[in-house]
Amino acid sequence: MEERARSCLLRFRHRLEQDIKPSYLMDHMVSDGVLSVDEEERIRTQPNRKDQAVALLELLLKKDNRAYISFYNALVKEAYDDLASLLQDDLPQMLPDAHNKSSDGSVAYVQAVLSEGGVPQRPVVFVNRPELVNRVREKLYRLLKEPGWVTVFGMAGSGKSVLAAEAVRDHRLIEECFPGGIHWLSIGQLDKPDLLVKIQSLCFRLEQSLDSQSLHRPSNSLDEAKERLRFLMLRRYPRALLILDDIWDSTVLKAFDIHCRILLTTRNRSLADSVSGAKYEVEVESGLDENKGLEILAKYTELNRLPEEARSIVRECKGSPLVVSLIGALLKEKPNRWDYYLRQLQQKQFKRIRKSSSYDYDALDQAMAASIEVLPDEHRELYKDLTVLEKDIKVPAKVLSVLWDLEAEEVEDILEEFVNKSLLFVDNHNKPYQYYLHDLQLDFLVEQNRTQLESLHTKVVHQYQQHYRDGPPTSGDEECLYWIRFLTYHMAKANLSQELYSLMFSLDWVSIKAQIMGPAHLINDYVEYGPILDKENSEVRSQFQEFLSLNGHQLEQRPFPDVVQLALSEPRSSEVYRQALLQAQDRTSAG
Ligand code: ADP
Repeated sequence: MEERARSCLLRFRHRLEQDIKPSYLMDHMVSDGVLSVDEEERIRTQPNRKDQAVALLELLLKKDNRAYISFYNALVKEAYDDLASLLQDDLPQMLPDAHNKSSDGSVAYVQAVLSEGGVPQRPVVFVNRPELVNRVREKLYRLLKEPGWVTVFGMAGSGKSVLAAEAVRDHRLIEECFPGGIHWLSIGQLDKPDLLVKIQSLCFRLEQSLDSQSLHRPSNSLDEAKERLRFLMLRRYPRALLILDDIWDSTVLKAFDIHCRILLTTRNRSLADSVSGAKYEVEVESGLDENKGLEILAKYTELNRLPEEARSIVRECKGSPLVVSLIGALLKEKPNRWDYYLRQLQQKQFKRIRKSSSYDYDALDQAMAASIEVLPDEHRELYKDLTVLEKDIKVPAKVLSVLWDLEAEEVEDILEEFVNKSLLFVDNHNKPYQYYLHDLQLDFLVEQNRTQLESLHTKVVHQYQQHYRDGPPTSGDEECLYWIRFLTYHMAKANLSQELYSLMFSLDWVSIKAQIMGPAHLINDYVEYGPILDKENSEVRSQFQEFLSLNGHQLEQRPFPDVVQLALSEPRSSEVYRQALLQAQDRTSAG
């Protein structure tokens, strides 16, 4: 039974024991099939009504959600309206007839739960790995009774995320272990402000699903966000599962050390050492067995009989799901190139500078280079532009439409081509769709275009300036968020120091960014780009930074305060004050 339901029974146990007539209620529960005739008999043998009631509640507390629902229904039928209303708020969120549902209904139910929690769908070409899936499920069942951690670990591209999503695609598991739902969070490599934003948006998502009217202001600090999440998970989502995908850093994990149920995927097996509670782990083998590898190639190419090279390709990349899928997608486009792709894999001609013992980078390079090579020339150039994206950052098509100076529709077509060729991934849970590169693809691009990074970032900045000649976007949509968050990053990487000073030494920019993203990100910018800004003027840099630190709390408030007013309280010698004064004078003269 759900924690919530059980705790509700415990809270009102005394009241219930005082008032109910068990024999009437048990009739309904027996006919619902949640109480056996033997159990009913045993309760009836108790000497009086009160003792029977005590025994019934004792038994009920050991039973499942369906028993709670049946007991509630029995109260309603027997006109115990007051008592029923006590239990009503904590009725488990379960379809009452879920056990009898047709398999279609069951699939729809699972799909609904997973999409609500943002769990990714299966890849277009998918092969089952039942043994691994079962191993993960088995560990998840250990979280039935108590919170804890299940770590799914393995090398890049071994299929951890796909496996995690598959493991929870199971009606019984959801219903028995995680009736509070499954909530997916993509983490990746991130710093503290980004982590704060992630947790904030998770809390926001959870609160929205409750139709909660209370709109919280965003939390100021990581500790505060963690507390809010703890409260939500404990009170509103007991027995929900959080899936944290691609964790790199134990400090990130600590933010989720809130006594709840967590499945995490990572390349680093020992991450969960730093957190408390029950822990289980599943290792994902880096490669698929040969037949599964061949199955992927067969599904992509739609061939019943695969050519000889197929087996060699799978062996050459050691069955890496990522590489086999990349090559499969290529062969779908160019079915005559079996021999060519095999040779490319074997020759490992683009040796990488960076070597890592645990990842099969060479094989991957081959596959990646090959994927890019088949693009038409002009699209290859556009793909190269993606080198400037930050790891794990998703962008909407509109950002690329500015970068490439192309119509939205054209951009969509190009992105679709990249996605189909497994060169890019799409997150289609929300509109607008967001696009992102696999870590390894990005590594590869950066490596390939190492000498051109500056000019690629410069292109981003110039395209932005061209498009937003009249001032930064303020709509708050995904595109606007991207620019407000990353413009400074691109400027810094492009070595466009002049542009960076004028942006960051401007009260207008500060005001816009604080309003859209909160002050934490801004302060982080001044710290991160401090060394560059200080070359121009370290005093002005520290004046802006101090202004933000002092007014951080105010800048969190909604409605958003008047920044010019705040800035007028700065010392007169401060650049922040000087700009505020000019604006105040402009306002007065404009009436
Ligand atoms: P990881 O999380 O270990 O880095 P992913 O789960 O993201 O790896 O998988 C990388 C890619 O490998 C996927 O995008 C998909 O193309 C392919 N892949 C992984 N697992 C499977 C599978 N079971 N069936 C088909 N393709 C898979």
